[in-house]
Amino acid sequence: MLYRNDKHGEPLSILGYGCMRFSRKGAGVDIEKTERELMAAYRSGVNYFDTAYIYPGSEAALGEILERNGIRDKVRIATKLPQYLVRNKASLDKYFDEELSRLRTDRIDYYLMHHLTDIAQWERLKTVGVIDWIAGKKASGAIRNIGFSYHGNSDNFLKILADYDWDFCQIQYNYMDETTQAGVAGLKAAAARGIPVVIMEPLRGGKLVNKLPEDAKKLMAGHHRGWSPADWGLRWLWDQPEVTVVLSGMNSIEMVEENVRIASEATAGAFTDDDRAFLRQILGIIRSKEKVGCTGCRYCMPCPKGVDIPGIFASYNTMYTESKVSGWAQYFQAVALAGEPSFASQCIKCGKCEQHCPQSIPIREKLPEAERALLPWYIKPLVKLGRKFLLRKK
Ligand code: SF4
Ligand code: SF4
Repeated sequence: MLYRNDKHGEPLSILGYGCMRFSRKGAGVDIEKTERELMAAYRSGVNYFDTAYIYPGSEAALGEILERNGIRDKVRIATKLPQYLVRNKASLDKYFDEELSRLRTDRIDYYLMHHLTDIAQWERLKTVGVIDWIAGKKASGAIRNIGFSYHGNSDNFLKILADYDWDFCQIQYNYMDETTQAGVAGLKAAAARGIPVVIMEPLRGGKLVNKLPEDAKKLMAGHHRGWSPADWGLRWLWDQPEVTVVLSGMNSIEMVEENVRIASEATAGAFTDDDRAFLRQILGIIRSKEKVGCTGCRYCMPCPKGVDIPGIFASYNTMYTESKVSGWAQYFQAVALAGEPSFASQCIKCGKCEQHCPQSIPIREKLPEAERALLPWYIKPLVKLGRKFLLRKK
């Protein structure tokens, strides 16, 4: 196992255990199977375990396994505040205390504001007193490092990053998302501030492994490196020194073994120009199934009317390269739940964006097409509800 340091010089295994997808048995977690997999990872050197308040049964299962095996003090627990449920300062304590009790511990090593998509959510937390609350928890040792997990666009990521003295952050990042969500711009900005970055969705929920197009799989199988699709996805991440921990939701012993093998070999700066060119070729195959040839470069931004052009096109493409549900999920996270409305319907067709698009995309024509797919009549009420509930906005 290779290790990289956190903000305070503490070594973290570059492979982190994502506890969202523990195997299920009946209505709960399959605790025996999960224990075998988790302990295999621990014995191979994994010391970072990431869970959250809302992952069903996950915190309790993790707490039980760590306690039964007497390894609580040998590992680092990351878990998350369900910030979207927080109403007042008292509820900060309520959720935190419940998490401590589920995890059978008296401290959280890495605590995250869960699933921020816009600075408006962080601003709202500040109004309920989260800054003082964090200071108190850190002073008492109940929280050792404070961070946030993020799913919005790179502009809002940079705002949140600059607004507080974070110890770490967590972003969705992989070779398909180099220019979407926080993106490489966010990764580098965090690193420039000395903030370690934890990576989630490194293999895009399987899209870069078993769900790869067949022609891409064949190309990989014939490549002289002899790497599996997981090798390509994970090694691309660890090649970047700005990446600290990569989370993998391991739910089989084979997956643990494969990930551990890669994490014991993958050093920063090991990728060659040929490796990068090969992944561009793979990406080209994935992208050939897309509806709009948008690369997410953001040269078209900002739009004077606030339309999130790359966010809308990325979600629209995901509907065709992955599934409708994935496209909608992405759209909700990056566009529909942005604090400032950024819908395609706000476009006044001024054409400013098209002058800057290196891909010559007819943006004014494609936006309404994307919106028709992303916002059919039955999705609109959900967007309204989401904005009201999560952002307290119309
Ligand atoms: S054409 Fe529409 S999307 Fe493009 S800059 Fe003008 S208002 Fe924004
Ligand atoms: S400039 Fe063109 S390719 Fe770049 S993000 Fe905007 S629409 Fe996409």
